[in-house]
Amino acid sequence: MKKIISLLLCAVILCCAAVPALADGGCPCGFSPIIYVGPLGCSSIVRDAGTDNEQQLWKIDTKFLLTNLKDVLPQLTKAMLLRNAEQIGDALVKFVNACFGDLALDSEGRSKANVTTPELNVPQGDRHGPDSDYYFDYDFRLDPYEHADRLHEFIAQVKALTGHDSVKLKCSSMGGVVLSAYLDKYGYDGIDVIICRCCPLLGTAVAGEAFCGKIELNATALTRYGEDAIPYLETGFADDIIEGTLYALLNVLKGAGVIDGLCSLGDRLIQDAADKVFQEALIPIFGTFLGIWAFVPEEYFDEAVRFMNVPAQGGLHDKIFAYRSAMAHIKENLKAARNDGVKVCLICGYNVQRTPLVTLWKSTSDGTVDTKYASLGATCGSVKEPLDDAYLNALENKEYLSPDHMIDASTCALPECTWFVRDWLHCNGNAGIDELFNLVMTSDEVSVRSFEEFPQFLEADDDADTVRPVTGAPNAWARLKSSPSYLNFIRFLFSIVKQLILLVK
Ligand SMILES: [Zn+2]
Repeated sequence: MKKIISLLLCAVILCCAAVPALADGGCPCGFSPIIYVGPLGCSSIVRDAGTDNEQQLWKIDTKFLLTNLKDVLPQLTKAMLLRNAEQIGDALVKFVNACFGDLALDSEGRSKANVTTPELNVPQGDRHGPDSDYYFDYDFRLDPYEHADRLHEFIAQVKALTGHDSVKLKCSSMGGVVLSAYLDKYGYDGIDVIICRCCPLLGTAVAGEAFCGKIELNATALTRYGEDAIPYLETGFADDIIEGTLYALLNVLKGAGVIDGLCSLGDRLIQDAADKVFQEALIPIFGTFLGIWAFVPEEYFDEAVRFMNVPAQGGLHDKIFAYRSAMAHIKENLKAARNDGVKVCLICGYNVQRTPLVTLWKSTSDGTVDTKYASLGATCGSVKEPLDDAYLNALENKEYLSPDHMIDASTCALPECTWFVRDWLHCNGNAGIDELFNLVMTSDEVSVRSFEEFPQFLEADDDADTVRPVTGAPNAWARLKSSPSYLNFIRFLFSIVKQLILLVK
């Protein structure tokens, strides 16, 4: 009997010893788990969660917005009719404070105690593979280094759950800010793949210019912005016809000077009302969002600190300045990771018209993040235009020049693993691009030369949900042939009209 008991005990001890062995690199599947580091707005922010007064402050609750708007509407309408900038400013300040005031962080960079993110994800289950990921979300207002600390724990939990000793990080948009802080603080140990999808790694001009008070409505930019956004409108069953018609309408309005008129009226009022709105609403609220500070490119930072009245000391000040280190080191951190065998893929859009509110509207982008900042340093022509002749003629190494001559990737920090997608709207889902990600995650060798169907320069076809290699300048006829929709037909017609106008001129 004693023998049997001791044999049983041995078996138990062996089994126990086998459990940690399984947890430590024990999964035999060969595919380490993916952690998806989400974009801005990946989690909702709630006031008085769990009480009768519960109110979602972000993502924005339209009903809440409209209720607040109703309160200021009479005042605003009167002020607009009188074209009284000061009264317009008063109404806007009241409205912005009612909607967003409680989101402001305090002088230490902390949220109000009753404003929280009650539904943040915790890793659960051991399901992992190419079609499954663990979603890491966060409160976008807070310090990116706080998110980095949480991501560090999250990674450890995912490893323990799945029995892998490394993970893949797939970062979307603001996810790149979290990644930058993470690499700066914790390095790349235990990470085997890093994907950055439209990430503002060196910021975005929209944040830089907004935080320096440079707001401008521009007619050409507004028209193009509308054109580029129209294909993504969800207008219901007659999508395509409505899109085409809106596109035509925008061009007619632009031609007739209507949009220019509207813009200059809007611009004057904006300039007059802006000062008040900045001082009394935008600066005290949005100026405290550490996550938005992380979007401010280096060349705007000093001016933004002055314009946004950043306090001279305290936790908020220190955290705003601390992220500069993450941004300053991201190039070398990613290079070091790649040189040490981490598979890196940076992918960014270009040739989409950006938000028509800033003076830098000509900077080519995916509509939100400038291509030069997402790609860590590409040299780019203005949106819809090639690089200028002087630059092209002086360029000796054309290996990294796009076939449409719009992008030179040789000036990127990691030209070997940076992809560019023409006409790809910020973070829009595209099955073709997902296919590239799958190759990146499963191949031994990852560079812009590794995959025949995914060279460095691609063009998005969102109708067909694919990408194809860029072979030359944008061509409306080729686009219509490959994707014969009403919208592409209208685009083609307008390209002919534009060429005729150029000929006549
Ligand atoms: Zn596995």
